[in-house]
Amino acid sequence: MDGNIQEREFGWTQSSKSEASAEEYDGDLDMENSSDEELELHAPLARHGPVVRANPEDLALQREYWNMCAIVFLLDYKKFSIRHLQHLINSAWKIRGNVMVVGRESYNYILHFDVLDDLTYICEEGPWAVEGALLVLERWRPNLVIMGLQLNFVSLWIQLHGLPLEYQYPELSMQMGHIIGLFERIDWDANLPRNIRFMCIRVRVDPWLPLLAGFMLRLDNGDTIWVQCRYERLHKLCTKCGLIGHIKAQCTYLMEDVEEILHRQRQRIQNQFHVQYGYDPMEPHYINEIKAFYNIPQRRNTQVRFGPLARDTGYRQRQFQHPNHKQPYKPETI
Ligand SMILES: [Zn+2]
Repeated sequence: MDGNIQEREFGWTQSSKSEASAEEYDGDLDMENSSDEELELHAPLARHGPVVRANPEDLALQREYWNMCAIVFLLDYKKFSIRHLQHLINSAWKIRGNVMVVGRESYNYILHFDVLDDLTYICEEGPWAVEGALLVLERWRPNLVIMGLQLNFVSLWIQLHGLPLEYQYPELSMQMGHIIGLFERIDWDANLPRNIRFMCIRVRVDPWLPLLAGFMLRLDNGDTIWVQCRYERLHKLCTKCGLIGHIKAQCTYLMEDVEEILHRQRQRIQNQFHVQYGYDPMEPHYINEIKAFYNIPQRRNTQVRFGPLARDTGYRQRQFQHPNHKQPYKPETI
């Protein structure tokens, strides 16, 4: 993941064209200063047009509505109709108020929420799964042009499976998180009993690059074992190319393309983290287990319900704890 993406505050940017014009904007000075003669002399065929402004009161009134909206990106090889998306949301999201699909521009949809708590919750806890597609949300913000929006990153919960018990401590998982993408937080509960099956981290990944399948963990006895990454809420994840949004049967990449993108992934990680790569020629790189809960079809729609959330969603409540201890965690009782 490159530095640009890590520094971004939002999951979205407008296309480079719009971005450039936003940066160059300096209060209409350029435009106001250009006289007709100047226009004729220097750039008669450059883009020009009458300057108009919106009435601030009108804008404020409009923004009251849009402030209750989220922009949705559906990361899928096919587009959903507004009606279909509305139907899926109505049947899977049992939240306090209504959610309405307001409109669509390409793969971007706008959702309007009646209740602010719903909007906040849905945006913070996403992405969600709808009919197996990944639904990524971001709150609306003023002056956003929907046309040309690009999805730069998506924050995913990733389970790390296969770690021996004494290797299940936050710092090692965080180290893996930094290699996967931009590490955000860890779901770690120091209380016992706790989950000993896997560690769980939230990482911001570039959705247009192949996902990291796992790690070769070198144990201190010299053995090397595989730590499998399992991505939550990802149902359409191609086990040929590792990209999100389609499955292997729908993959249009040639094998040499896949080899090339995986080669670039290795190069990027090796250059950035100076790690060695381990290989196991007997095992395929991407396997179905890269999708958490891949064999449970009802998870293809994330059930959202306010109240005692953990039980209904099947996702236990996250602790959001950052480990601030420097010593390895030692259980006091077994
Ligand atoms: Zn593919």
